[in-house]
Amino acid sequence: MCKQAGIVLLTLILSLVFMERCFADTDMFSYKAGDITVVRLVDKQGGVPPEVLIGADKAMLKSVLPEGICPAMFLTFLIKSPTDLILVDTGNGEARKGRTLALLKQMGISKDAITKILLTHMHGDHVNGLFSGESKAFPQAEVYVEQSEFRFWTDRKNLSRAPAGMASCFDNAERFARLYGDKIHLFKAGETLFPWLTSVAMPGHTEGHTGFLLTRGGKRLLFAGDFLHCLPVQTAHPEISVIWDSDQNLAKQTRVKVLERTANSETIVLGGHFANPGAVHFKQSGGKFSYQFVEPDVN
Ligand SMILES: [Zn+2]
Repeated sequence: MCKQAGIVLLTLILSLVFMERCFADTDMFSYKAGDITVVRLVDKQGGVPPEVLIGADKAMLKSVLPEGICPAMFLTFLIKSPTDLILVDTGNGEARKGRTLALLKQMGISKDAITKILLTHMHGDHVNGLFSGESKAFPQAEVYVEQSEFRFWTDRKNLSRAPAGMASCFDNAERFARLYGDKIHLFKAGETLFPWLTSVAMPGHTEGHTGFLLTRGGKRLLFAGDFLHCLPVQTAHPEISVIWDSDQNLAKQTRVKVLERTANSETIVLGGHFANPGAVHFKQSGGKFSYQFVEPDVN
């Protein structure tokens, strides 16, 4: 019991570090794909403490992370298609000082203008932005979430299968189901949601963690959520999971698969927590993975 309480406390402390660490940043970068524009929004700044990287060699961490913390952010993405304004994840919300709504407002976009929301998974830093207290933050939005992800978090019997400190995710799932009701669209990973967007199974971080591949105008952009949290460490060492991964072995398999499928290709990978500018091309050479940041098209 005592040990469990200790783990919960440690998780909370590390999560707070992740939330509050500050890095200088530009809030909005855009990427073009034909007639679609993707805007990366910094919901909140952050950093991944090395203590959450399971089994990482201390000497390696010291050389790869000389500042003692992994640069990272809390990101959401706005997809501007000719017919819809779509959010990928919603960030920390008002409860945890998320800035997505404020940034949309800054762009002249009201909460009622968001017509669709795609969730990569149902951890708090991705779904809290769905709520404004006990109301919907996005009253007009249809919300798309993978079916096994939704079922996991809406069944409290799964509490023992979730990492420590995740009890609030079950409360959120209940509130989500209650508030959004028939506006929730459950899909199976792999399904095509729009002619230019297909869901991609990326389980491990959570039960039904999902990516979204946008293909338009000869460009390929992959919204990859939390398949990876610390670029400099986990790209070179995809075998290293984080304490927030619910199935660490499956998370590792997914990481390797995503890296193998996107490396040395034109696919731009957008992570939920990548550091500035939030998008990369992965490379593979001599069995080793690396990455290059992709410069945005429009600032
Ligand atoms: Zn996250």
